Amino acid sequence: AKSSGRGAICFYHPSLDEAARDRRALELDLRAAMERGEITLMYQPVLRVDTGAMASAEALARWTHPTRGPIRPDLFIAIAEESGLIVPLGRMLLRQACVDAASWPDHLAVAVNLSPVQFHAGDVYDTVIAALADSGLPPHRLKLEVTENVVMHDVERTFVELERLRAAGIKILMDDFGTGYSSLSYFERFPFDKVKIDQSFVRGLDTSRAAGAIIKAIVGLGEALGMAIVAEGVETCAQRDALVLAGCTHLQGYLFSRPVSSATIAALGAAGPGA
Ligand code: C2E
Ligand code: CA
Ligand code: CA
Ligand code: CA
Repeated sequence: AKSSGRGAICFYHPSLDEAARDRRALELDLRAAMERGEITLMYQPVLRVDTGAMASAEALARWTHPTRGPIRPDLFIAIAEESGLIVPLGRMLLRQACVDAASWPDHLAVAVNLSPVQFHAGDVYDTVIAALADSGLPPHRLKLEVTENVVMHDVERTFVELERLRAAGIKILMDDFGTGYSSLSYFERFPFDKVKIDQSFVRGLDTSRAAGAIIKAIVGLGEALGMAIVAEGVETCAQRDALVLAGCTHLQGYLFSRPVSSATIAALGAAGPGA
């Protein structure tokens, strides 16, 4: 059933349920949207706790479907991963992020999310180096966000690839820490530059004592290993205060800014403190 061509779209699959057919339809639409350059990037500021200034911005993919409206990135990224489209899509987005960031003030870095599938496809290093060369963005202004899942398969090869990227001057960040199949031993194997505490723990601060304890433990690990600690999904002043008190070095969330356009990041970076 993996045949392509227009006829295949109308083919009746009694075995496919509604949801699977829906995903297949979205996959075809996604492919077309990519070809038309309709997947875009918005950027969310990440602030330093010590100065309050923006240090970087995270690139977040956006897709507005012609009839369905905005599609959640969680959904279309998952579809892109299942179909393999994430390889060309990820390459396009990485390149776009580097081009955009090259137009920002020099002190601002861009953080780009990488899917585990891109690593397994095996061309991440070359893709990253080419994007830097073509955009003129210096390596120290690019950060790559990977989740714990990235190291799950083929641990050795992934660490070798991350090591090469790091040797090229690119910072590597562990995203969504504490939610996947986490293993503290990853930190023994690979010197991540930054750890991003998952927003579920930030949300949990309001209701659970465990969330605060987990955040403090992650900060302690970061301090011992010289890693910066980012908290994401910060929505309230109470959360901000608790995260600052816990020792987080960077904060990101709607309290400070929603994801905005590249031009807005450039303007904020030129106007803000530390510029
Ligand atoms: P993520 O990497 O964990 O990104 C953070 C998500 O939290 C973003 O959702 C962001 O808009 C949202 N967020 C930021 N601050 C707040 C806040 O204060 N409150 C709440 N409720 N949410 C906040 P978004 O943009 O919907 O992206 C969802 C996920 O999709 C991302 O999670 C990431 O896993 C994936 N994704 C997005 N863009 C890309 C991309 O270019 N490549 C890859 N591989 N994955 C991407
Ligand atoms: Ca991320
Ligand atoms: Ca995250
Ligand atoms: Ca996430």
